[in-house]
Amino acid sequence: MSVLRSTFVAASRSPRLRSTAERSSILTPVVERFVAGTDVDAAIEVARDLAADRYVSLDHLGEATTDPHAAEATVEAYATLLHRLDAEGLTGRAEVSVKLSALGQALGDDGQKIARDNLLHICSTAADVGATVTVDMEDHTTTDSTLEIVRDVRADFPSTGTVLQASLRRTEADCHDLAGRGSRIRLCKGAYDEPVSVAYRTKAEVDASYVRCMRILMTGQGYPMVATHDPALVTVGEQLAIAAGRGRDAYEFQMLYGIRPTHQSELAAAGHKLRIYVPYGTEWYPYFMRRLGERPANIGFFLRSFTGR
Ligand code: FAD
Repeated sequence: MSVLRSTFVAASRSPRLRSTAERSSILTPVVERFVAGTDVDAAIEVARDLAADRYVSLDHLGEATTDPHAAEATVEAYATLLHRLDAEGLTGRAEVSVKLSALGQALGDDGQKIARDNLLHICSTAADVGATVTVDMEDHTTTDSTLEIVRDVRADFPSTGTVLQASLRRTEADCHDLAGRGSRIRLCKGAYDEPVSVAYRTKAEVDASYVRCMRILMTGQGYPMVATHDPALVTVGEQLAIAAGRGRDAYEFQMLYGIRPTHQSELAAAGHKLRIYVPYGTEWYPYFMRRLGERPANIGFFLRSFTGR
């Protein structure tokens, strides 16, 4: 991971910068490139537009909650979102993505239980309206806890999906464990700044790991969700799916709202199943900082938004 990216990931964790940045309830154009808006109406509007030729996964922004009431408020926000998706007739095209740290995973010794119970509530509401839930993956210190919670919740809600990060050295083994019938695994590179003891640090190593992991998921029995904007990996993903005898409805590509929009349109127009991850909400700062750090050109874009040039 580059120094620039590490710096932005570190800044994404600063409570002081976060509270300053999130003070305004209006998103600046530079944030709006990556975030659908601050409220559920904005998220629904974006979802409705995208649903014309693709699928969506909506994320109510929030993470690293240190307050049980905030975790409960997150559950309520997802209930509101899911009922709105149902009312708008969008549940066939839309699911939700959830971060366990927003559901209380970090709340001390009880965090695991609190996050699991909160996730069960969200999955229950999602099942009532016919939508699925995918549990995002955060930094490597949470991987075991997240996979354990997802395993427990899948006993009642088997369609619950989760995320594996190709940058982690453990992920090939996790892919083998989780490629069974009925599983839904989103494979991404990984957005966190991880130590070399647990993670690959160069692009070449991460990309090679991504291909190995995709091969395991594509030849497995589950439903692979190939989450990357990397055109080379999208091509390899399609080739591996064909080699594994999968039709286009037996896997999907996923990309983030606002990133490589032309590539997104081309994939959808070519008939690929493509899902766009659409974040919304007032707690946009950590998500936004991770996106800024992923591409040096974004920094110039960000700075120009202040200078007006
Ligand atoms: P890269 O090699 O980083 O990028 C490939 C190309 O895509 C770049 O050359 C550039 O043209 C474009 N690009 C990539 N990022 C940006 C950007 N920010 N701005 C502008 N252009 C860009 N990570 C997690 O750790 N946990 C998760 O739960 C998670 N969920 C995700 C869900 C989805 C649907 C997607 C698409 C990503 C998710 N990620 C998650 C983020 C992921 O781990 C990567 O950090 C991110 O997708 C960038 O990696 P990449 O595969 O696009 O490859």
